[in-house]
Amino acid sequence: MRLKLIGTGNAAGVPLFGCDCLLCAKAKENTDFRRGPASAVLEIDNKKYLLDAGAMDIADKFSDKKPDAIFLTHFHPDHVQGLFHLRWGKGENIPVYCPPDSTGCSDLFKNPGILKFNTKKKFEEFSIGYLKVTPLPLIHSKLTFGYLFELDNQRIAYLTDTKGLPPKTALFLEDRNIDLLIIDTSHAPNVNDTNHNNLNDSLDICERLKPVRTVLTHISHDFDIWLNENKSCLPTEVYVANDGLTVFPC
Ligand SMILES: [Zn+2]
Ligand SMILES: [Zn+2]
Ligand SMILES: [Zn+2]
Repeated sequence: MRLKLIGTGNAAGVPLFGCDCLLCAKAKENTDFRRGPASAVLEIDNKKYLLDAGAMDIADKFSDKKPDAIFLTHFHPDHVQGLFHLRWGKGENIPVYCPPDSTGCSDLFKNPGILKFNTKKKFEEFSIGYLKVTPLPLIHSKLTFGYLFELDNQRIAYLTDTKGLPPKTALFLEDRNIDLLIIDTSHAPNVNDTNHNNLNDSLDICERLKPVRTVLTHISHDFDIWLNENKSCLPTEVYVANDGLTVFPC
């Protein structure tokens, strides 16, 4: 398994529209400092799976070969907006695994085009080839799944968007020897949001699940500024995501 993060920001992203702070100035000049909507690509042999579809240039990113499937965590626009264009493409359907959210987002269900939505049940493991996938309920303002991906005794948990973890999800992931945890960490420790983790929430989750490595994603503009001023605050084996970073294997 190989996992590359293609977006690591929240819905607003970096640079933030209308902002003239130093971080945004840096991000306008150097794309390395930009943060697009949180999403990732999981590669297994010659298969490519897209985790969330908030990027607006999916067609360009996958111009050589379509994604073999898409996993959606939930139907907030920053996780699905790229599908509004992609759906009108040609050729084979693309399976889209998602939580059973009957409303979804706007008219994606009414006009799915080449997207084949396939709703999954919480905690019900399914397989794609040798890859085992378990959808895990999270705590967010819309029905949201994290996913545990397992292959060849390697485990990656991709958990966004969430504030804490439901007890059953935490119990399920405990003692599962997670190699890599990707976790929604939208805010600095002093910020409270009922829909997203702050750094302390994420470190609590980390302490409970004991992954080998943790990567923080869904980073807000303000948290990014905070991180720049508090660079050395993270425990060992906890890292801040960047767009384009390959996080597994490391
Ligand atoms: Zn989000
Ligand atoms: Zn700014
Ligand atoms: Zn969301």
